[in-house]
Amino acid sequence: MAVTEGILRRQSARESAARTYARALPIVPVRARGLTIEGADGRRYLDCLSGAGTLALGHNHPVVLEAIRKVLDSGAPLHVLDLATPVKDAFITELFHTLPPGLADRARVQFCGPAGTDAVEAALKLVRAATGRSGILAFTGAYHGMTAGALAASGGACDVSVTRLPYPQDYRCPFGVGGERGAELAARWTESVLDDPKSGVRHPAGMILEPVQGEGGVIPAPDTWLRRMRQITAARSIPLIADEVQTGVGRTGAFWAVEHSGVTPDVMVLSKAIGGSLPLAVVVYRDDLDVWEPGAHAGTFRGNQLAMAAGTATLAYVRRHHLSERAATLGSRMLSQLRDLAGEFACIGDVRGRGLMMGMEMVAAGARAGGGSAGDSGSSGAADPGGDLAGDLVDVEVAGARQSMGGPRPAAPELAAAVQRECLRRGLIVELGGRHSSVVRLLPPLTITDEQASAVLDRLADAVESVASSHAPHDDPRQPQRRRRRQGDRAERAG
Ligand code: PMP
Repeated sequence: MAVTEGILRRQSARESAARTYARALPIVPVRARGLTIEGADGRRYLDCLSGAGTLALGHNHPVVLEAIRKVLDSGAPLHVLDLATPVKDAFITELFHTLPPGLADRARVQFCGPAGTDAVEAALKLVRAATGRSGILAFTGAYHGMTAGALAASGGACDVSVTRLPYPQDYRCPFGVGGERGAELAARWTESVLDDPKSGVRHPAGMILEPVQGEGGVIPAPDTWLRRMRQITAARSIPLIADEVQTGVGRTGAFWAVEHSGVTPDVMVLSKAIGGSLPLAVVVYRDDLDVWEPGAHAGTFRGNQLAMAAGTATLAYVRRHHLSERAATLGSRMLSQLRDLAGEFACIGDVRGRGLMMGMEMVAAGARAGGGSAGDSGSSGAADPGGDLAGDLVDVEVAGARQSMGGPRPAAPELAAAVQRECLRRGLIVELGGRHSSVVRLLPPLTITDEQASAVLDRLADAVESVASSHAPHDDPRQPQRRRRRQGDRAERAG
């Protein structure tokens, strides 16, 4: 305990105020395997943060460790800039093996700096060079990284102007309709911005999007919308960049998330899981965009041999063991269990996700957006199978998502933070995200077992229950009933 406290004390005294995860998760990991992390104090945690979605195979998977050891034992150089090596050759072969058809046979890969944000910078630079245009189309709620100005400060002409377009979302649809209709309106807005000569937006160099927004709050784009974006960009010769930094390598239930819609992007930005837990990022693009002069995009750390070996092992394992299919099945089962939980607790406004990328948006249980009337406390009756939870609020279905009349309830970041804290107390690590930091996110490794998934959901349910009861506007006599029901479910599973 003293070791843990000392390290944490020194961390807060010495590290930047910009530190993030370390604030919400005051633990000192010393050992890890698969889903489990062990702290210096001997406590064990189920890790559903997975290095912000990096650890497709969990911590220290044997095939990853073996691949790293093999390179170390072989005497191969660990740092070689962008020189060719057998390790790199094998990585590219395995990576190209996984690419969506249409890109695989005409792909070029650029090894950029080792972070996702480096690959984004490279991709933006690439499409600007290839088109001779400068502006970029991006979407509300998008997250593509944190570098700003490195290129501009290096004397490059890099004042990228970004036009932000609506990303389709059901729960907080900017058009108030959600579903296919909301997505259609979002697509039309994009079209009109491009075609209206007075929109103020010049013909752009590219469009960048996440097939499922991660940091934006786990928002999967409808496949039809993604296909529309592909048509709209193709018809206007605008390169489409898919940022698969977080969604890639099986996470969403397909090897690459664009496969759900059958869309082939012109450029893909990849990082996180492709390095098998070590830093690695690449841009993959169609050969006709490869207009770069030698040295047009460089970087010292483009040749991390250990990351490439770990990445090759990870890509091959996910492919051979069909882990994307596993993510699809287990993810939809976990999502449906989370939806059951949302039926019990009014403070869960929405549950959404794709594959093993799941989110639960916490909302103010007692108030409506835009100001609710007195007596607005209570739970939703809409999703209550037992009929014993009927509350004062009338909830309605909007495109499959539960909303109270008058729109979604206000986001509740304090409840999300409380759930994260209560999860940690119960030995479960979860991530927060979303526009208002009100989305509790689960990104378990694709190797998570059924039993582990049940343990994760049990701990999460207990945490939500504890937060709901301590934040309830008044004592809720239904709490013990809920608990009994869930304990019964658990006993059934155990039996
Ligand atoms: N793109 C997406 C979709 C991401 O989720 C992230 C990181 N969360 C990035 C880019 C940036 O990656 P990095 O933090 O490695 O720079």
